[in-house]
Amino acid sequence: MPVCFECGGKLVYDRETKTYSCEGCGSTYNSQDLLVEREKRFNRKFEEEKKKRRHQEYLEWWLSSKS
Ligand SMILES: [Zn+2]
Repeated sequence: MPVCFECGGKLVYDRETKTYSCEGCGSTYNSQDLLVEREKRFNRKFEEEKKKRRHQEYLEWWLSSKS
């Protein structure tokens, strides 16, 4: 079940309009929106992981260069 990207509320599918609407804040999404938004979130997480890893590598390098 998809959740709202604004408030995390439950999205209810409306078969007539082919859109999802949020029970919490009333935002509406179509399936394309959901796909795009999911991809954006995934990329953001990926970038954060990359940044964290780079920092970790730097720390290790720094520690090993001290000894
Ligand atoms: Zn919402």
